[in-house]
Amino acid sequence: MKVLIATNETQGDHPGDYTWTVEGELVTPVTAECCSPATCGCGRGFPGLASCRATTTAMVVERPDLDPDEVWEALYDSLSRDGWADHLDDTEFEALVDEHLWCIETVCSSFPVGTVVSRWGTKVYSRQVSAAA
Ligand SMILES: [Zn+2]
Repeated sequence: MKVLIATNETQGDHPGDYTWTVEGELVTPVTAECCSPATCGCGRGFPGLASCRATTTAMVVERPDLDPDEVWEALYDSLSRDGWADHLDDTEFEALVDEHLWCIETVCSSFPVGTVVSRWGTKVYSRQVSAAA
């Protein structure tokens, strides 16, 4: 299935770029933002499911070894480790995991494989610039 991974490609091309993730780890376009997302950077980050750190650059890739159930489990494990389940009942927490998976699938269905994307709030956009021949 198509998923989002942390990438160093184009990292540093945009002001305020940062990466604290592990190259190639699964990331999600969903995050809780603080009250100053522009200055702290959380409004631009893709949290990594393994590192629990974030990056401003993610790539759409095809991972035939993964299916939606496995990505759902990875999201469940990551969000559990980060404490997101602590104040939700099982139904609410599973709905949160469902929402993450839906957002990953929606973003990945919007861009071809190999696209490097950035995020600002709820918007995810391609970093590739069209060029005239
Ligand atoms: Zn923040």
